[in-house]
Amino acid sequence: MLKFTDTIFALSSGRPPAAIAVVRVSGPAAGAALEALIGKIPAPRHAALAHVRDPASGEMIDEGLALWFPAPRSETGEDIAELQLHGGRAVIAAVLAALARVPGCRPAEAGEFTRRAFENGRLDLTRVEGLADLVGADTEAQRRQAFRQMRGALGDRSESWRTQLIEALALVEARIDFPDEGDVPEDLIAPALAKARDLRDEIAATLADRRRGERLREGLVIAIAGPPNAGKSSLLNRIARRDAAIVSPFAGTTRDVIEVHLDLDGCPVTFLDTAGIRDSTDPVEQEGVRRARERAGEADLVLWVMDATSGGEIPVDAIKQEFSNNAKWIVWNKIDLVSVLRIKTLKSVIHKLDYPCYFISALTESGFGPFLKAVAAHAQKYLGTSEPALVTRARHRHALENALGALDRALNERLPVREDVVAEELRLAGRALGKLTGRVDVEDVLDVIFRDFCIGK
Ligand code: GDP
Repeated sequence: MLKFTDTIFALSSGRPPAAIAVVRVSGPAAGAALEALIGKIPAPRHAALAHVRDPASGEMIDEGLALWFPAPRSETGEDIAELQLHGGRAVIAAVLAALARVPGCRPAEAGEFTRRAFENGRLDLTRVEGLADLVGADTEAQRRQAFRQMRGALGDRSESWRTQLIEALALVEARIDFPDEGDVPEDLIAPALAKARDLRDEIAATLADRRRGERLREGLVIAIAGPPNAGKSSLLNRIARRDAAIVSPFAGTTRDVIEVHLDLDGCPVTFLDTAGIRDSTDPVEQEGVRRARERAGEADLVLWVMDATSGGEIPVDAIKQEFSNNAKWIVWNKIDLVSVLRIKTLKSVIHKLDYPCYFISALTESGFGPFLKAVAAHAQKYLGTSEPALVTRARHRHALENALGALDRALNERLPVREDVVAEELRLAGRALGKLTGRVDVEDVLDVIFRDFCIGK
Protein backbone atom coordinates (compact mmCIF):
# COMPACT_ATOMS: atom_id res chain seq x y z
CA MET A 1 0.00 0.00 0.00
CA LEU A 2 3.01 2.27 0.45
CA LYS A 3 3.70 4.24 -2.65
CA PHE A 4 7.45 4.68 -2.83
CA THR A 5 10.09 2.20 -3.95
CA ASP A 6 13.16 4.38 -3.50
CA THR A 7 14.70 5.25 -0.18
CA ILE A 8 15.56 8.83 0.73
CA PHE A 9 18.09 10.25 3.17
CA ALA A 10 19.06 13.70 4.41
CA LEU A 11 20.62 15.68 7.18
CA SER A 12 17.57 16.60 9.28
CA SER A 13 19.27 18.78 11.89
CA GLY A 14 20.52 22.35 11.43
CA ARG A 15 23.54 23.73 9.69
CA PRO A 16 26.88 22.22 10.72
CA PRO A 17 29.14 22.40 12.60
CA ALA A 18 27.08 21.50 15.65
CA ALA A 19 27.40 19.20 18.64
CA ILE A 20 25.11 16.60 17.10
CA ALA A 21 23.83 15.95 13.60
CA VAL A 22 20.75 13.86 12.82
CA VAL A 23 20.65 11.94 9.54
CA ARG A 24 17.38 10.27 8.60
CA VAL A 25 16.72 7.53 6.09
CA SER A 26 13.19 6.59 5.00
CA GLY A 27 12.01 3.86 2.64
CA PRO A 28 12.29 0.13 1.96
CA ALA A 29 16.11 0.15 1.99
CA ALA A 30 16.41 1.93 5.37
CA GLY A 31 17.12 -1.37 7.12
CA ALA A 32 19.73 -2.33 4.52
CA ALA A 33 21.35 1.08 5.00
CA LEU A 34 21.71 0.39 8.73
CA GLU A 35 23.17 -3.05 8.05
CA ALA A 36 25.64 -1.51 5.60
CA LEU A 37 26.74 1.37 7.83
CA ILE A 38 26.53 0.02 11.39
CA GLY A 39 26.29 -3.73 10.81
CA LYS A 40 23.02 -4.23 12.72
CA ILE A 41 19.41 -3.14 13.14
CA PRO A 42 18.66 -1.90 16.68
CA ALA A 43 15.53 -2.93 18.57
CA PRO A 44 12.59 -0.79 17.35
CA ARG A 45 12.40 2.65 18.96
CA HIS A 46 15.38 2.08 21.26
CA ALA A 47 18.60 4.05 20.96
CA ALA A 48 21.63 1.85 20.29
CA LEU A 49 25.31 2.64 20.23
CA ALA A 50 26.54 2.57 16.65
CA HIS A 51 29.94 2.35 15.05
CA VAL A 52 29.41 3.96 11.70
CA ARG A 53 31.65 2.54 8.96
CA ASP A 54 32.20 3.31 5.33
CA PRO A 55 30.75 0.17 3.68
CA ALA A 56 33.34 0.30 0.86
CA SER A 57 36.57 0.59 2.87
CA GLY A 58 35.37 -0.63 6.24
CA GLU A 59 36.95 2.41 7.87
CA MET A 60 35.15 3.74 10.93
CA ILE A 61 33.69 7.21 10.25
CA ASP A 62 32.17 8.07 13.62
CA GLU A 63 30.62 6.69 16.76
CA GLY A 64 27.04 7.66 17.50
CA LEU A 65 23.52 6.50 18.20
CA ALA A 66 21.14 4.69 15.86
CA LEU A 67 17.36 4.39 16.03
CA TRP A 68 15.05 2.11 14.08
CA PHE A 69 11.36 2.87 13.42
CA PRO A 70 9.86 0.04 11.35
CA ALA A 71 6.85 0.71 9.12
CA PRO A 72 4.07 1.56 9.54
CA ARG A 73 4.54 3.10 13.00
CA SER A 74 6.95 5.78 11.90
CA GLU A 75 6.68 9.41 10.96
CA THR A 76 6.58 8.75 7.23
CA GLY A 77 4.75 5.44 7.55
CA GLU A 78 7.81 3.74 6.02
CA ASP A 79 10.86 2.09 7.60
CA ILE A 80 12.94 4.89 9.10
CA ALA A 81 16.55 4.76 10.29
CA GLU A 82 17.97 7.64 12.25
CA LEU A 83 21.63 8.24 12.98
CA GLN A 84 22.80 10.72 15.61
CA LEU A 85 26.36 11.67 14.76
CA HIS A 86 28.93 14.24 15.75
CA GLY A 87 27.89 17.34 13.87
CA GLY A 88 31.05 18.12 11.93
CA ARG A 89 30.97 18.83 8.20
CA ALA A 90 33.37 16.04 7.23
CA VAL A 91 31.53 13.47 9.40
CA ILE A 92 28.22 14.37 7.81
CA ALA A 93 29.68 14.40 4.29
CA ALA A 94 31.25 10.96 4.77
CA VAL A 95 28.02 9.43 6.15
CA LEU A 96 25.88 10.94 3.37
CA ALA A 97 28.36 9.65 0.77
CA ALA A 98 28.23 6.20 2.35
CA LEU A 99 24.41 6.22 2.27
CA ALA A 100 24.43 7.23 -1.40
CA ARG A 101 26.29 3.99 -2.15
CA VAL A 102 23.60 1.81 -0.56
CA PRO A 103 21.46 0.36 -3.40
CA GLY A 104 18.07 2.09 -3.69
CA CYS A 105 19.11 5.12 -1.60
CA ARG A 106 19.22 8.70 -2.86
CA PRO A 107 19.31 12.18 -1.29
CA ALA A 108 15.88 13.57 -0.32
CA GLU A 109 14.35 16.63 -1.89
CA ALA A 110 12.97 19.54 0.15
CA GLY A 111 9.91 18.46 2.15
CA GLU A 112 10.08 14.89 0.88
CA PHE A 113 9.89 13.19 4.29
CA THR A 114 6.74 15.12 5.16
CA ARG A 115 5.31 14.52 1.72
CA ARG A 116 5.69 10.79 2.22
CA ALA A 117 3.98 11.09 5.60
CA PHE A 118 1.08 12.78 3.82
CA GLU A 119 0.94 10.35 0.90
CA ASN A 120 1.05 7.39 3.27
CA GLY A 121 -1.86 8.84 5.25
CA ARG A 122 0.13 9.75 8.38
CA LEU A 123 -0.67 13.47 8.16
CA ASP A 124 -3.45 15.44 6.47
CA LEU A 125 -2.65 18.69 4.71
CA THR A 126 -3.70 20.97 7.57
CA ARG A 127 -1.35 19.02 9.89
CA VAL A 128 1.45 19.34 7.33
CA GLU A 129 0.89 23.10 7.31
CA GLY A 130 0.79 23.16 11.10
CA LEU A 131 4.14 21.38 11.15
CA ALA A 132 5.63 23.94 8.75
CA ASP A 133 4.26 26.75 10.93
CA LEU A 134 5.62 25.15 14.08
CA VAL A 135 9.10 25.06 12.60
CA GLY A 136 8.69 28.70 11.53
CA ALA A 137 7.02 30.01 14.72
CA ASP A 138 8.80 33.03 16.21
CA THR A 139 6.58 33.79 19.17
CA GLU A 140 4.72 31.88 21.86
CA ALA A 141 1.28 32.67 20.43
CA GLN A 142 2.37 31.48 16.99
CA ARG A 143 3.82 28.29 18.44
CA ARG A 144 0.58 27.52 20.27
CA GLN A 145 -1.52 28.02 17.15
CA ALA A 146 0.83 25.98 14.96
CA PHE A 147 0.93 23.16 17.50
CA ARG A 148 -2.87 22.97 17.61
CA GLN A 149 -2.97 22.90 13.83
CA MET A 150 -0.37 20.15 13.71
CA ARG A 151 -2.42 18.12 16.16
CA GLY A 152 -5.38 18.36 13.76
CA ALA A 153 -7.57 21.17 15.18
CA LEU A 154 -8.86 22.09 11.74
CA GLY A 155 -8.21 18.78 9.95
CA ASP A 156 -10.29 16.72 12.38
CA ARG A 157 -13.10 19.27 12.46
CA SER A 158 -13.19 19.36 8.70
CA GLU A 159 -13.28 15.56 8.43
CA SER A 160 -16.18 15.41 10.83
CA TRP A 161 -18.00 18.01 8.73
CA ARG A 162 -17.33 15.94 5.65
CA THR A 163 -18.76 12.84 7.31
CA GLN A 164 -21.93 14.75 8.16
CA LEU A 165 -22.14 15.95 4.57
CA ILE A 166 -21.84 12.41 3.27
CA GLU A 167 -24.67 11.36 5.61
CA ALA A 168 -26.86 14.15 4.29
CA LEU A 169 -25.95 13.22 0.74
CA ALA A 170 -26.82 9.57 1.37
CA LEU A 171 -30.32 10.63 2.42
CA VAL A 172 -30.83 12.67 -0.73
CA GLU A 173 -29.44 9.94 -2.95
CA ALA A 174 -31.66 7.30 -1.36
CA ARG A 175 -34.56 9.50 -2.31
CA ILE A 176 -33.28 9.81 -5.90
CA ASP A 177 -32.48 6.12 -6.32
CA PHE A 178 -35.63 4.70 -4.78
CA PRO A 179 -38.28 7.33 -5.38
CA ASP A 180 -41.22 4.95 -5.23
CA GLU A 181 -40.11 2.29 -2.83
CA GLY A 182 -42.20 1.91 0.24
CA ASP A 183 -39.43 1.39 2.76
CA VAL A 184 -37.70 4.65 1.87
CA PRO A 185 -39.47 7.33 3.88
CA GLU A 186 -41.14 9.94 1.71
CA ASP A 187 -39.40 12.83 3.22
CA LEU A 188 -35.69 12.22 3.40
CA ILE A 189 -34.97 15.66 2.07
CA ALA A 190 -36.05 17.53 5.20
CA PRO A 191 -33.54 15.79 7.54
CA ALA A 192 -30.84 16.13 4.89
CA LEU A 193 -31.43 19.86 4.64
CA ALA A 194 -31.53 20.19 8.44
CA LYS A 195 -28.09 18.57 8.60
CA ALA A 196 -26.84 20.86 5.84
CA ARG A 197 -28.16 23.90 7.69
CA ASP A 198 -26.37 22.98 10.93
CA LEU A 199 -23.19 22.45 9.00
CA ARG A 200 -23.60 25.70 7.15
CA ASP A 201 -23.95 27.61 10.44
CA GLU A 202 -20.91 25.91 11.95
CA ILE A 203 -18.71 26.70 8.96
CA ALA A 204 -19.97 30.29 8.84
CA ALA A 205 -19.15 30.70 12.55
CA THR A 206 -15.65 29.32 11.97
CA LEU A 207 -15.09 31.81 9.16
CA ALA A 208 -16.35 34.78 11.23
CA ASP A 209 -13.05 35.08 13.12
CA ARG A 210 -11.81 38.45 11.86
CA ARG A 211 -8.93 36.57 10.19
CA ARG A 212 -7.28 36.16 13.59
CA GLY A 213 -5.49 32.94 12.69
CA GLU A 214 -4.00 34.28 9.48
CA ARG A 215 -3.01 37.48 11.25
CA LEU A 216 -1.29 35.63 14.04
CA ARG A 217 0.55 33.51 11.52
CA GLU A 218 1.74 36.55 9.59
CA GLY A 219 2.08 38.95 12.51
CA LEU A 220 0.22 42.18 13.23
CA VAL A 221 1.36 45.01 10.99
CA ILE A 222 1.67 48.51 12.46
CA ALA A 223 2.63 51.38 10.17
CA ILE A 224 4.32 54.49 11.50
CA ALA A 225 3.24 57.43 9.36
CA GLY A 226 3.10 61.20 9.58
CA PRO A 227 4.79 64.37 8.30
CA PRO A 228 8.57 64.51 7.72
CA ASN A 229 10.70 65.19 10.78
CA ALA A 230 7.94 64.32 13.24
CA GLY A 231 10.22 61.62 14.64
CA LYS A 232 8.95 58.44 12.96
CA SER A 233 12.39 56.90 12.51
CA SER A 234 13.37 57.89 16.03
CA LEU A 235 10.24 56.24 17.35
CA LEU A 236 10.93 53.03 15.44
CA ASN A 237 14.51 52.98 16.69
CA ARG A 238 13.28 53.43 20.20
CA ILE A 239 10.83 50.55 19.74
CA ALA A 240 13.41 48.29 18.20
CA ARG A 241 16.14 49.43 20.63
CA ARG A 242 18.56 49.38 17.80
CA ASP A 243 19.42 51.53 14.80
CA ALA A 244 16.99 50.02 12.30
CA ALA A 245 16.14 53.25 10.51
CA ILE A 246 18.37 56.16 9.68
CA VAL A 247 17.57 59.10 11.90
CA SER A 248 18.42 62.36 10.24
CA PRO A 249 17.77 66.02 11.03
CA PHE A 250 16.96 66.60 7.34
CA ALA A 251 13.45 66.04 6.03
CA GLY A 252 12.71 63.20 3.60
CA THR A 253 15.69 60.93 4.20
CA THR A 254 13.76 57.76 4.97
CA ARG A 255 13.08 56.85 1.39
CA ASP A 256 12.08 53.26 1.72
CA VAL A 257 9.89 51.22 4.00
CA ILE A 258 11.85 49.83 6.91
CA GLU A 259 10.48 46.88 8.85
CA VAL A 260 11.16 45.80 12.39
CA HIS A 261 9.80 42.49 13.66
CA LEU A 262 9.11 42.29 17.36
CA ASP A 263 7.78 39.84 19.90
CA LEU A 264 5.42 41.89 22.09
CA ASP A 265 4.24 39.73 25.01
CA GLY A 266 4.21 36.66 22.78
CA CYS A 267 2.49 38.36 19.85
CA PRO A 268 4.34 38.86 16.56
CA VAL A 269 4.24 42.51 15.50
CA THR A 270 5.83 44.10 12.46
CA PHE A 271 6.44 47.85 12.58
CA LEU A 272 6.84 49.75 9.33
CA ASP A 273 8.56 53.08 9.12
CA THR A 274 7.13 54.80 6.08
CA ALA A 275 8.85 57.58 4.17
CA GLY A 276 7.59 61.02 5.08
CA ILE A 277 4.31 60.99 3.21
CA ARG A 278 4.25 64.32 1.39
CA ASP A 279 4.24 65.76 -2.10
CA SER A 280 7.61 65.66 -3.79
CA THR A 281 9.06 66.21 -7.25
CA ASP A 282 12.10 64.01 -6.71
CA PRO A 283 11.36 60.72 -8.56
CA VAL A 284 13.26 58.61 -6.03
CA GLU A 285 11.32 60.18 -3.22
CA GLN A 286 8.05 59.82 -5.11
CA GLU A 287 8.68 56.10 -5.42
CA GLY A 288 9.40 55.92 -1.69
CA VAL A 289 6.17 57.72 -0.98
CA ARG A 290 4.22 55.40 -3.26
CA ARG A 291 5.60 52.29 -1.57
CA ALA A 292 5.06 53.75 1.86
CA ARG A 293 1.43 54.46 1.00
CA GLU A 294 0.85 50.99 -0.33
CA ARG A 295 2.40 49.18 2.64
CA ALA A 296 0.82 51.46 5.23
CA GLY A 297 -2.55 51.10 3.51
CA GLU A 298 -2.52 47.38 4.35
CA ALA A 299 -1.45 47.84 7.97
CA ASP A 300 -3.68 46.69 10.82
CA LEU A 301 -2.91 49.83 12.83
CA VAL A 302 -1.49 53.20 11.81
CA LEU A 303 0.46 55.31 14.28
CA TRP A 304 0.24 58.87 12.99
CA VAL A 305 3.19 60.69 14.50
CA MET A 306 2.94 64.45 15.06
CA ASP A 307 5.62 66.90 16.18
CA ALA A 308 4.34 68.48 19.41
CA THR A 309 6.42 71.60 18.75
CA SER A 310 4.81 72.24 15.36
CA GLY A 311 1.57 74.10 14.59
CA GLY A 312 -0.45 71.16 15.83
CA GLU A 313 -3.08 70.95 13.12
CA ILE A 314 -3.85 67.26 12.74
CA PRO A 315 -4.69 66.63 9.08
CA VAL A 316 -7.77 64.63 10.03
CA ASP A 317 -9.32 64.55 6.57
CA ALA A 318 -6.08 63.49 4.93
CA ILE A 319 -5.55 60.73 7.51
CA LYS A 320 -9.11 59.51 7.10
CA GLN A 321 -8.75 59.46 3.35
CA GLU A 322 -5.35 57.82 3.36
CA PHE A 323 -6.17 55.17 5.95
CA SER A 324 -9.87 54.62 5.56
CA ASN A 325 -9.59 50.91 6.35
CA ASN A 326 -7.12 50.99 9.22
CA ALA A 327 -7.33 51.59 12.95
CA LYS A 328 -5.52 54.84 13.74
CA TRP A 329 -3.75 56.35 16.75
CA ILE A 330 -2.21 59.80 17.06
CA VAL A 331 1.22 59.90 18.66
CA TRP A 332 2.46 63.33 19.74
CA ASN A 333 6.24 63.16 19.82
CA LYS A 334 8.98 65.45 21.20
CA ILE A 335 7.10 66.30 24.40
CA ASP A 336 10.52 66.89 25.99
CA LEU A 337 10.60 70.15 24.02
CA VAL A 338 7.20 71.56 24.99
CA SER A 339 5.59 72.96 28.13
CA VAL A 340 2.97 71.24 30.22
CA LEU A 341 0.55 73.92 29.09
CA ARG A 342 1.12 73.06 25.44
CA ILE A 343 0.42 69.39 26.16
CA LYS A 344 -2.82 70.43 27.86
CA THR A 345 -3.80 72.42 24.78
CA LEU A 346 -3.02 69.51 22.48
CA LYS A 347 -5.03 67.19 24.72
CA SER A 348 -8.05 69.44 24.47
CA VAL A 349 -7.79 69.43 20.67
CA ILE A 350 -7.60 65.69 20.66
CA HIS A 351 -10.62 65.41 22.86
CA LYS A 352 -12.74 66.23 19.85
CA LEU A 353 -11.21 63.44 17.75
CA ASP A 354 -12.18 59.83 18.04
CA TYR A 355 -8.62 58.49 17.80
CA PRO A 356 -6.68 57.23 20.80
CA CYS A 357 -3.81 59.62 21.55
CA TYR A 358 -0.40 59.22 23.15
CA PHE A 359 2.21 61.73 24.25
CA ILE A 360 5.79 60.58 24.08
CA SER A 361 9.37 61.58 23.55
CA ALA A 362 11.35 59.28 21.32
CA LEU A 363 14.44 61.06 22.64
CA THR A 364 13.97 60.83 26.42
CA GLU A 365 11.49 57.93 26.43
CA SER A 366 9.07 59.99 28.46
CA GLY A 367 5.56 58.46 28.10
CA PHE A 368 7.05 55.54 26.24
CA GLY A 369 6.22 52.75 28.71
CA PRO A 370 2.43 53.30 28.76
CA PHE A 371 2.46 53.74 24.98
CA LEU A 372 4.20 50.39 24.34
CA LYS A 373 1.90 48.70 26.86
CA ALA A 374 -1.08 49.98 24.89
CA VAL A 375 0.42 48.65 21.65
CA ALA A 376 0.99 45.22 23.22
CA ALA A 377 -2.57 45.19 24.62
CA HIS A 378 -3.91 46.10 21.20
CA ALA A 379 -1.94 43.25 19.62
CA GLN A 380 -3.24 40.80 22.24
CA LYS A 381 -6.81 41.91 21.66
CA TYR A 382 -6.44 41.88 17.91
CA LEU A 383 -4.79 38.51 17.61
CA GLY A 384 -7.03 37.11 20.34
CA THR A 385 -4.55 34.68 21.85
CA SER A 386 -7.03 33.29 24.36
CA GLU A 387 -9.54 31.72 21.99
CA PRO A 388 -7.66 29.96 19.22
CA ALA A 389 -8.68 30.28 15.58
CA LEU A 390 -9.01 27.28 13.27
CA VAL A 391 -8.41 29.04 9.98
CA THR A 392 -4.76 30.00 9.71
CA ARG A 393 -4.24 30.33 5.96
CA ALA A 394 -5.96 31.85 2.94
CA ARG A 395 -6.11 28.31 1.52
CA HIS A 396 -8.30 27.18 4.43
CA ARG A 397 -10.56 30.19 4.10
CA HIS A 398 -10.95 29.63 0.39
CA ALA A 399 -11.92 25.96 0.84
CA LEU A 400 -14.40 26.72 3.63
CA GLU A 401 -15.94 29.57 1.64
CA ASN A 402 -16.44 27.20 -1.29
CA ALA A 403 -18.12 24.67 1.00
CA LEU A 404 -20.29 27.42 2.47
CA GLY A 405 -21.28 28.66 -0.99
CA ALA A 406 -22.35 25.19 -2.10
CA LEU A 407 -24.34 24.63 1.12
CA ASP A 408 -26.05 27.99 0.67
CA ARG A 409 -27.07 27.06 -2.84
CA ALA A 410 -28.40 23.70 -1.65
CA LEU A 411 -30.39 25.40 1.11
CA ASN A 412 -31.75 28.07 -1.21
CA GLU A 413 -33.55 25.55 -3.37
CA ARG A 414 -37.19 26.50 -3.52
CA LEU A 415 -39.83 23.97 -2.58
CA PRO A 416 -40.32 21.46 -3.98
CA VAL A 417 -36.54 21.06 -4.09
CA ARG A 418 -34.81 19.51 -7.06
CA GLU A 419 -33.11 16.58 -5.41
CA ASP A 420 -30.40 16.26 -8.04
CA VAL A 421 -29.42 19.91 -7.54
CA VAL A 422 -29.22 19.49 -3.76
CA ALA A 423 -27.17 16.32 -4.17
CA GLU A 424 -24.75 18.03 -6.53
CA GLU A 425 -24.23 20.99 -4.19
CA LEU A 426 -23.66 18.70 -1.21
CA ARG A 427 -21.13 16.81 -3.27
CA LEU A 428 -19.36 20.08 -4.15
CA ALA A 429 -19.29 21.12 -0.48
CA GLY A 430 -17.77 17.73 0.39
CA ARG A 431 -15.11 18.15 -2.26
CA ALA A 432 -14.19 21.58 -0.92
CA LEU A 433 -13.72 20.09 2.56
CA GLY A 434 -11.80 17.16 1.07
CA LYS A 435 -9.41 19.60 -0.56
CA LEU A 436 -8.79 21.21 2.80
CA THR A 437 -7.40 18.01 4.29
CA GLY A 438 -6.05 16.64 1.01
CA ARG A 439 -8.51 13.77 0.73
CA VAL A 440 -9.39 14.53 -2.87
CA ASP A 441 -7.81 15.93 -5.96
CA VAL A 442 -5.08 18.05 -4.50
CA GLU A 443 -2.08 17.56 -6.78
CA ASP A 444 -2.07 21.25 -7.65
CA VAL A 445 -1.89 22.45 -4.05
CA LEU A 446 0.68 19.88 -2.94
CA ASP A 447 3.66 21.43 -4.64
CA VAL A 448 2.85 24.82 -3.17
CA ILE A 449 2.71 23.44 0.35
CA PHE A 450 5.76 21.18 0.29
CA ARG A 451 7.90 23.71 -1.55
CA ASP A 452 8.22 25.72 1.67
CA PHE A 453 9.83 22.86 3.59
CA CYS A 454 13.54 22.43 3.98
CA ILE A 455 15.42 19.28 3.02
CA GLY A 456 15.40 16.65 5.74
CA LYS A 457 11.90 17.55 6.90
P1 GDP B 1 11.06 61.35 10.63
O1 GDP B 1 11.35 62.14 9.42
O2 GDP B 1 9.63 61.49 11.02
O3 GDP B 1 11.47 59.91 10.54
O4 GDP B 1 11.86 62.02 11.85
P2 GDP B 1 13.26 61.60 12.50
O5 GDP B 1 13.08 60.44 13.39
O6 GDP B 1 14.30 61.56 11.45
O7 GDP B 1 13.49 62.84 13.47
C1 GDP B 1 13.62 64.14 12.97
C2 GDP B 1 14.44 64.97 13.96
O8 GDP B 1 13.73 65.09 15.18
C3 GDP B 1 15.77 64.33 14.30
O9 GDP B 1 16.74 65.35 14.41
C4 GDP B 1 15.54 63.68 15.66
O10 GDP B 1 16.70 63.61 16.45
C5 GDP B 1 14.54 64.65 16.28
N1 GDP B 1 13.67 63.98 17.25
C6 GDP B 1 12.94 62.87 17.06
N2 GDP B 1 12.23 62.55 18.15
C7 GDP B 1 12.52 63.49 19.09
C8 GDP B 1 12.12 63.72 20.45
O11 GDP B 1 11.31 63.01 21.05
N3 GDP B 1 12.63 64.81 21.06
C9 GDP B 1 13.53 65.64 20.46
N4 GDP B 1 13.98 66.67 21.15
N5 GDP B 1 13.93 65.46 19.19
C10 GDP B 1 13.45 64.40 18.49
